Amino acid sequence: MKFGGSSVRDAAMIRSVLAIVRERLPQAPLLVASAMGKTTDALVGAAERAVSGDRDAAFEALGLLEDSHRDAAVSLTLGDARTSLVAAIDELFSEMKSLLQGIYLIRECSPRSRDALLSFGERLSTAIIAAAAREEGIGCELIDARALIVTDSSFGAAAPLPELTRSRTRERARPRQGVLLVTQGFIASTEEGVTATLGRGGSDYTATILGAALDAEAVEIWTDVDGIMTADPRVIPAARSIPFISYDEAAELAYFGAKVVHPATILPAMERGIPVWVKNTGRPDHAGTRIQAVREGTGIRAIASKTGVTLLTVQSSRMLNAYGFLRALFSVFDQNRVSVDLVATSEVSVSVTVD
Ligand code: ADP
Ligand code: ASP
Ligand code: MG
Repeated sequence: MKFGGSSVRDAAMIRSVLAIVRERLPQAPLLVASAMGKTTDALVGAAERAVSGDRDAAFEALGLLEDSHRDAAVSLTLGDARTSLVAAIDELFSEMKSLLQGIYLIRECSPRSRDALLSFGERLSTAIIAAAAREEGIGCELIDARALIVTDSSFGAAAPLPELTRSRTRERARPRQGVLLVTQGFIASTEEGVTATLGRGGSDYTATILGAALDAEAVEIWTDVDGIMTADPRVIPAARSIPFISYDEAAELAYFGAKVVHPATILPAMERGIPVWVKNTGRPDHAGTRIQAVREGTGIRAIASKTGVTLLTVQSSRMLNAYGFLRALFSVFDQNRVSVDLVATSEVSVSVTVD
């Protein structure tokens, strides 16, 4: 069960999450949580300010996060549990401050340093959620996702190593009836043990990676809309929820900009035939969407859109009756490890879009 940033944005939402999860305890759930609300954006902003030399603004951003996390911790726990949770949060913020000071001093934030800083968002949220669960009498074990998911060293968008991830997950995360396992979305570690992230929005991907590793019965992505809809409801308010959608259709929508699931999410579930549900934390009784192998019906399922893409048009007078042009063109993208989304050709030109 993966809960996104808006689903865990404050103490009240965390209570709703725990009410949903409590019902599932007999099914031995694993809860994957994102950072609270817009924490990751705020951390990105703090790092950018530190790089630009604005130390005060960088630390002010961190200060706001510290307040909101402490507030949530204080309202969800009491007594000794509260004291030790607040101490754990203080410890995490003191590490974050050192890291941010380092970034400020050298005016540079490599993808590796950035991943280290961003990882704190999920480490904080899960510490709070686990403590809140215990406070409510739910037996709970907090597991560091960095001990489960092993990736290559492409910091910023690290790729999981499936075999190692599967064996570590099966060894270290043992679902048990009546016990809630809690771990972080988004974060992982390289074979050398260095913290990495799966890329923005990557907590959905964490859920299917772990679900696949554990041969879960189902993966549930809990978010702030009634499942996958016919369009982004923020853009098209009349969009409708889609009850069933195939893996292929969902993957295609995600790839072309339907932010509701991260583009890489579908594959691990599809490979093992595990259904993925997309559900609304604010309306748990709504059925949401079931992503499954079977494709139902025909026709257009949904419309997705993507911003921030670049269109490149390459012209050549030599294209007429020529061969090898596309190969030569795509080898440039290949050498630079740039992925191409859409391709259109005409007699004398090729147009491609890239992020
Ligand atoms: P979370 O924090 O739970 O991961 P996200 O903000 O990443 O949530 O994804 C949910 C958002 O995705 C929705 O609020 C909605 O605006 C957007 N979205 C884009 N396309 C779709 C779609 N086809 N169906 C549903 N939501 C969509
Ligand atoms: N917290 C991360 C992000 O905002 C991962 C996620 O929420 O899926 O990108
Ligand atoms: Mg998301």
